[in-house]
Amino acid sequence: MQTNIARSLLNLKKNLSNLKKSQKIGLVPTMGCIHNGHLELIKKCKKLKYFTVVSIFVNPAQFNNQKDLKKYPSQEKKDIEILKKNDVDLVFFPKTKQMYPLGYSTYIKEINFSDILCGKYRKNHFSGVLTIVLKLFLIVKPYAAFFGEKDFQQLFLIKKMVKDFNLGVKIIGIPTVRDSNGLALSSRNKLLNARGLEIAKQIYLNIKKIRNLDYKYTKDLELYLKKELKKSGLNNIEYIEIRETNSLKHPKSIIRGKTLRIFIAVHVEGVRLIDNCKLN
Ligand code: AMP
Repeated sequence: MQTNIARSLLNLKKNLSNLKKSQKIGLVPTMGCIHNGHLELIKKCKKLKYFTVVSIFVNPAQFNNQKDLKKYPSQEKKDIEILKKNDVDLVFFPKTKQMYPLGYSTYIKEINFSDILCGKYRKNHFSGVLTIVLKLFLIVKPYAAFFGEKDFQQLFLIKKMVKDFNLGVKIIGIPTVRDSNGLALSSRNKLLNARGLEIAKQIYLNIKKIRNLDYKYTKDLELYLKKELKKSGLNNIEYIEIRETNSLKHPKSIIRGKTLRIFIAVHVEGVRLIDNCKLN
């Protein structure tokens, strides 16, 4: 099967206009540097027999830090090769100039869940994410779109936006893909050297250790994990928070049976890494 590549809105439209009316489109938005985490989303989309569109766009609107944007890894040629191998139907490389032309000034703002967790430390990050995702939905008009649980707050906010705006796009969340050490796959891992990777793998190893501990109060377990992570060499911790999966509320006590998740953001060698995991 052929993998087409679209680098402009016009070209994308041309590619999509050839589809049969009955053919459902599945969209997998990414920022590129394709890894096995992305591929799980793509495989699920293919399995459901959707016409699979993968977008690759490092969205400047979601970066609060210009340095972070500049150093974000990219490997376009290799990405195309991998996507071809995985029978993706269409790869869309939006151009910044087309997504945000001169004078662009309309952004989405979600007001209840965007300033907690990652949003507390990355001002306007989720506004940038929701804006680009909405634009992609309006341009590609997918039946379904695929997002990873690795970015759990992002998935939560996208589901919320789809509901609040009656977008009618089916949102499919995919569990986090990890390497053999448990480190959540991320394009940013490419920025780490061997020592950084060694430290980074301590994130999940420590989460696993504390998942079953019998703590009464969330604060105490959060503090305990913080200490353990520091002992393992992770000394630049942005946040560790236990929240309810369905509401993202921060409960005082750990009530078993309630689905709680632990959320973490750390910096390793200047690279920001996030992870989250169900608490047992
Ligand atoms: P990114 O290119 O990092 O913006 O990610 C694009 C999509 O892939 C998002 O929906 C991410 O949540 C998802 N994703 C990234 N890493 C992983 C992973 N390790 N496991 C599952 N999904 C992932």
